[in-house]
Amino acid sequence: MPSFTDLAALDKQHLWHPFTPMRQWCAPDHVPLMLVEGHRCTLRDQFGKEYLDGNASIWTNVHGHAHPVINAAIIQQLGKVAHTSFLGFTNEPAIRLAKELIDLLPGGKITRAFFTDNGSTAIESAVRMALQYWKQNGGPQRDTLIAFDRAYHGDTLGAASLGGIPLFKGSGNDFGYRVITVPSLDALASLSADDLSRTAAVIIEPLIQGAAGMRLWPQGMLGQLEAWCHQHDIFLILDEVMTGFGRTGTMFACQQEGVTPDFLCLAKGLTGGYLPLAATLTTERVFEGFLGDPAEGRTFFYGHSYAGSQLGCAAALASLQLFRDERILEHLPAKIDRFRQLMADLPGYRQCGMISAITLDSPDTSLGARICIAARAHGLLTRPIGNTIVLMPPLCVTLEEIDRMVTALRAALADLGAHT
Ligand code: PMP
Repeated sequence: MPSFTDLAALDKQHLWHPFTPMRQWCAPDHVPLMLVEGHRCTLRDQFGKEYLDGNASIWTNVHGHAHPVINAAIIQQLGKVAHTSFLGFTNEPAIRLAKELIDLLPGGKITRAFFTDNGSTAIESAVRMALQYWKQNGGPQRDTLIAFDRAYHGDTLGAASLGGIPLFKGSGNDFGYRVITVPSLDALASLSADDLSRTAAVIIEPLIQGAAGMRLWPQGMLGQLEAWCHQHDIFLILDEVMTGFGRTGTMFACQQEGVTPDFLCLAKGLTGGYLPLAATLTTERVFEGFLGDPAEGRTFFYGHSYAGSQLGCAAALASLQLFRDERILEHLPAKIDRFRQLMADLPGYRQCGMISAITLDSPDTSLGARICIAARAHGLLTRPIGNTIVLMPPLCVTLEEIDRMVTALRAALADLGAHT
């Protein structure tokens, strides 16, 4: 059995971590934090030190770690079968999950679920469906997608081509579609008639842009965007990879403005944050646009080996059951209030449901990262976005844990003289 020291050395020798400057990671004095155990909102490292999970394990975790109900559901499914192909076969957990997800969106517009296994491919599925739909249903000129400045929709080449954060932008796209990036809703009014007639879909992170640094959209914007899309018969794609599953205070962010998109992309919190699974929900109109004789080439030739995996779907069903049994959404208002009360005086404080963020006004671009490192000593794990620091724990967080999280953040800010 290798020691933790041996494992850390092997990590530096063989691993390549995502979104990580590897020279610093591999530096001799860097001790990688290895998380070995979790229970509800608490995580324990290789030295036995405990931390509150302040970013819900990269915005995924809903009910806390090692929840007995989700664990049991996964173990029960494991006893039957872990994974079989979704290409040409089906399975009960996936069927039940599709039905439950669709039932969460009343009104009858959303009727279909397409499963993938991460947020980026949930987005790509929607984009490819939108482009292919128009190509084979009377809009072959619609080769354009509209996205917003500073958006983040994932990091596969297709998803990255829609992004508006230069740091994460790939080398552009050469897939035969155009992306127009706009700063705001108002900018849509100045699109040319040609641009409008070529637009297949608009994509947006509703209510709040995550990786941009938790930027809130103006209230009412989403409803206006939906109306604009209806007016021009342009599809609306909502990226609820981060905002889905209670994060903004309602099950889905779009429900706060009574919006039903043509595509709803879900991932992170879908399984409660336990297993990789994503879903692109869409409408019967879109689905029917792909029906026809196979020789017509209307089939959607896209999908991944782990699509509709039983284990992921079993975890997701257990998570949705917990939303009902533990009345997760009903408990959120008190938690949201608590964050606001405790953090409102901190620099640049803003909040969207269970997402709280502050931004430090400093020319030192490493300050956010250093505060997050300092916070570890106070028992808080979180991750900076530049000089923005975000607190978004699992939704099961208690009021007492919120108090401890904010106390730890304040202590870290004080350690670095960033706020007193
Ligand atoms: N969209 C949004 C809004 C996200 O926050 C993310 C991940 N941070 C993604 C898409 C991509 O999801 P994944 O990392 O699972 O590919």
